[in-house]
Amino acid sequence: MDTDFARPFPLPAGTSACVEIDLGAIRDNTAELKRLAGSAEVMAVVKADGYGHGAVPSARAALAGGATWLGVAQLDEALALREAGIDTPLLTWLYVPGADFTAALRAGIDVTVSSTWALDAVCRAAAETGEPARVHLKVDTGLSRNGAVGQDWVDLVRAAAAAEADESVDVIGVWSHFVYADEPQHPTVRRQQERFEDALRDVDRAGLRPVVRHLANSAATLTNPAVHYDLVRPGLAVYGQSPVPQLGGPTAYGLREAMRVTSALALVKRVPAGTGLSYGHQYTTDRETVIGLVPMGYADGIPRAATNVGPVQVGGQRATVSGRVCMDQFVVDLGPSYAGAAGDPVVVIGREADGEPTAQDWAAATGTINYEIVTRMGPRLPRILLGERD
Ligand SMILES: *Cc1c(COP(=O)(O)O)cnc(C)c1O
Repeated sequence: MDTDFARPFPLPAGTSACVEIDLGAIRDNTAELKRLAGSAEVMAVVKADGYGHGAVPSARAALAGGATWLGVAQLDEALALREAGIDTPLLTWLYVPGADFTAALRAGIDVTVSSTWALDAVCRAAAETGEPARVHLKVDTGLSRNGAVGQDWVDLVRAAAAAEADESVDVIGVWSHFVYADEPQHPTVRRQQERFEDALRDVDRAGLRPVVRHLANSAATLTNPAVHYDLVRPGLAVYGQSPVPQLGGPTAYGLREAMRVTSALALVKRVPAGTGLSYGHQYTTDRETVIGLVPMGYADGIPRAATNVGPVQVGGQRATVSGRVCMDQFVVDLGPSYAGAAGDPVVVIGREADGEPTAQDWAAATGTINYEIVTRMGPRLPRILLGERD
């Protein structure tokens, strides 16, 4: 698993664009996060198909790097990991009434509980399986998203204690999630930690003894050791993207990007000054120039908002999306002296340390976050896994 991205260029014959996933990077990033986490364990978050990197291979690589837990949003994502033969502790946290908790419990999946209706449903499933359900109680410490707050939290803790007493559940964890982990000095960070501490005391007073208290996502894992508790839950950083780009890129945090997206020019041609490019002529050449056609579009995850701003590297030189991003393709003004030809390599997303355009560059150019850029890479792009064992 020591492979790196293919040099100079990975595109398999017959494909127009591809996504390389460096599993060695995922393993090494996880090892770095584990080192930072000290005595806390690492739950690698592999929801949303491993942030677009592939859930199962990413999970295996993260486990090879020292993660001892996995986390996903949805129950079906958790079941898919189990079906792939991954048997580590695994937490899920998002579902609606009617979710198949029985299947989850039979598969040994830990279930987050944020309400008494969910606890009741999990207890009914536990009665069917004949084993206590492993649950993590989620407290809303200020994000106002999932989690129980106020009297609902008090009621949930009381109900969980009763359910543990009658052996319907084992309360394995207590957890919460930050509003502003990416701004470690933000006043909400301290306030949420205080509320979390209060919640831990509530749980303790109810006689519950959870073994994992967890609060930190990637940003908090990297920047705030005081909130590591027993377990950290990094997602983005596992894939080598910085969750705090305003503080530093991946290199500054000892991480390296695991995703590289490449393509090749489908056509190169010389056009006169005053030529409008692509739909709506949102770009007009200001001199005679050479343009190149890149066979990737918004169906592949290239944001349409990247029109006239998306950064690419063509034949080793930097260029910018010129004119509108279409469903399957976009055009780049390569300048009058471009001497290349169709087939020239295009790096769309690469690695900061290699001087390539990054997911963060795309995010900054299009007003979004690197999370969205990597997660949205389309299903049409073949994934090339580097460093996969067996
Ligand atoms: C997605 C998610 C994480 C991981 O967040 P990152 O910012 O990617 O590290 C952790 N916990 C919860 C509840 C999440 O939804």
